[in-house]
Amino acid sequence: MSHVLAVLEQRDGSLRKVSHEVVTGARRLADALGGDVHALVLAAGPVQGADVSGRYGADKVITATNAGFAQYAPEGFTRAVADRATAGGYGAIVFAASAQGRDLAPRVAARLGVPLAADVTDVVVDGGSVIVTRPVYAGKALLKVKVTVTPAVVSLRPNVFTPVERPKAGAAETAAVSGDAGRVVVKAIKAATGGSLDVAEAQIVVSGGRGLKDPASFKLLEELALAFGGKAAVGASRAVVDAGWRPHGDQVGQTGKTVSPSLYVAVGISGAIQHLAGMRTAKVIVAINKDKDAPIFKVADYGIVGDLFEVVPKLTEEIKKLHG
Ligand code: FAD
Repeated sequence: MSHVLAVLEQRDGSLRKVSHEVVTGARRLADALGGDVHALVLAAGPVQGADVSGRYGADKVITATNAGFAQYAPEGFTRAVADRATAGGYGAIVFAASAQGRDLAPRVAARLGVPLAADVTDVVVDGGSVIVTRPVYAGKALLKVKVTVTPAVVSLRPNVFTPVERPKAGAAETAAVSGDAGRVVVKAIKAATGGSLDVAEAQIVVSGGRGLKDPASFKLLEELALAFGGKAAVGASRAVVDAGWRPHGDQVGQTGKTVSPSLYVAVGISGAIQHLAGMRTAKVIVAINKDKDAPIFKVADYGIVGDLFEVVPKLTEEIKKLHG
């Protein structure tokens, strides 16, 4: 029997939604390993929403507090998670492959002297070993890796592990962590201009390419994103980022961000292999392109062959109707 440690995330004292995905993945592993899920969140004080983790399968929710944990502190967080992992003798430790998880998970793995299976899209247990799946070669192939060491440290690609309700006790425990938070101090996290959602974390991404012709046309995509009621972010191909039409933080692809939203709408994007590398794990892909032979249609679940300047405004109107 092995317990599983789920490392949750908070921002400004509220639990981040990606934490429910982490608990869901951890629950899956714990059920197969025959253990409990201990959900760990590091914060300066009580974390709003942490108790909800019980609904997604946490047997215990541990809030580890330190005055320096209000913001992510790489050294202090690493020490606290690694100490808890060592003390608990866990069979697996699960992180989100979010901005924070991408920094924290390798640090914890290194401190524990074990490898990290990063950015995985599936986890199963076979014969007592954790087996992870990870897209490789720009998403063209799926690599299955058997983790033969304990604990198996994994980070889950955001938006892939849909939160599943598996009510457990969710017993609350608070533990004060001594010592300072470390030499690196995050003083503030600034939201992107306009308070827009990050493409890597949004449930819906509406991305535009060179087919939009000029930066002003992205207004069409912003209106479409808005019609989804605050759930959608606007992304971009590298061609438009290189042209200076959109910020680099919006770029989807091999040299941009990897996204796995529930819905990805590619507008005026040809579908080059480097672009597909960043979005082909989206659950549903919709492509709008005037060229019926554009490669994007090969990965699209729904394709509209047409002029985006005619199609997008109509689509926006229809989605507005659906959302009342
Ligand atoms: P284009 O290829 O020019 O396609 C524009 C599309 O718009 C066409 O398919 C056209 O039919 C369509 N179109 C035009 N007008 C209309 C209209 N009115 N209505 C509907 N459709 C219309 N690219 C990325 O996106 N992300 C990356 O991270 C990335 N990394 C790279 C890394 C390397 C090492 C290299 C070499 C390249 C990388 N690229 C990346 C670039 C990639 O190869 C492509 O050049 C780029 O994705 C093309 O962008 P695009 O689809 O917007 O433009």
